Amino acid sequence: MRAAVSRGVGEIAIEELADPRPGTGEVKVRLVSSGICHTDVSVLEGHLPSPRPIVLGHEGAGIVEEVGAGVEDLAVGDHVICSIITSCHSCPPCLRGEVAICERAVAFAGTMLDGTTRLRRADEDVHVLFCQGSFAEYAVVPASAAVKIREDAPLDKLAGLGCGWSTGLGAAIIRAEVRPGSSVVVIGAGGVGLATMMGARALGATTVIAIDIAEHKLARALQLGLATHTLAASGSEAVEAVRDLTGGRGADYAFDAVGASGTLESALQSIRPGGLAVAIGVMDASVTATFDLFGFLMQKRLTGTYAGSIVPGRDIPVFVDLYMQGKLPLDDVIDARYSLDEVPKALGQLAANEITKGVVLL
Ligand SMILES: [Zn+2]
Ligand SMILES: [Zn+2]
Repeated sequence: MRAAVSRGVGEIAIEELADPRPGTGEVKVRLVSSGICHTDVSVLEGHLPSPRPIVLGHEGAGIVEEVGAGVEDLAVGDHVICSIITSCHSCPPCLRGEVAICERAVAFAGTMLDGTTRLRRADEDVHVLFCQGSFAEYAVVPASAAVKIREDAPLDKLAGLGCGWSTGLGAAIIRAEVRPGSSVVVIGAGGVGLATMMGARALGATTVIAIDIAEHKLARALQLGLATHTLAASGSEAVEAVRDLTGGRGADYAFDAVGASGTLESALQSIRPGGLAVAIGVMDASVTATFDLFGFLMQKRLTGTYAGSIVPGRDIPVFVDLYMQGKLPLDDVIDARYSLDEVPKALGQLAANEITKGVVLL
């Protein structure tokens, strides 16, 4: 099969690999599409750790082609979204229902859950990102990460639910449980930020302030009817503007969908006393944040989410239903489509902030 393989920092090329076979508890998926996420860029550029060679891509959508031993809930022909969340169903977080932070997850290890790889080129092991590697014709994924969805849903449009879109939707709907009538700040109007706005709007937020330094992304957020206000600002300038838009109080919720130096501080400064700030992503594992403690005396709350804190098998089918009912304009966010051969170009364009949400059609 053909796949986009990275053999060094900044290097990625299409290679021919052996067709993979699923192990116990795994399924082989014929990929129809894959979303492109900032994490692919971060790994490619060496900002997040990973072994090499590695097949990037972790937002796969496709059709089950082969089922491994012990898989009972999926069958050949099922339409699936491949989530980055792989739950073991038996560790303490999984038993609490917090499967996004499963202790047996292997996100950046490059292997499957048992520590071995499924992809090979001759005798060489090839790693995958998030037990997936979706910039390829096929992926082998743990059955717990392959979420069956309704067959009338378009697999070429919904791959982003594997990571970015579910992260944004889940941040607003599951982690923050945004209340109707709320004011919401979203820092970063890329794919994840726009999905956060969709989630907040779906729950009835009436003021949604999008903040980004890229004007074209803000224009998109307005045009899609997701943001009620946009601010092309950062730092204290953005915080002051949020105050002006929220009666001098600050917003009820702020989401940091950027994770760069200073953005989480801005999120916390943007909320009112008792408000909630949510860290959604991190651009670079070395980024740290500093907070003044007085805000916490004013009962401000700060939390984070991994992958939107969703339970994939429970929440992704709901997101698909909401999309099919026209309540989440997910595919309107897609502004670039690529072939597998164009993956290197696609990652470059995302890194350069030229696109909002790209999809590879396989
Ligand atoms: Zn991602
Ligand atoms: Zn677990």
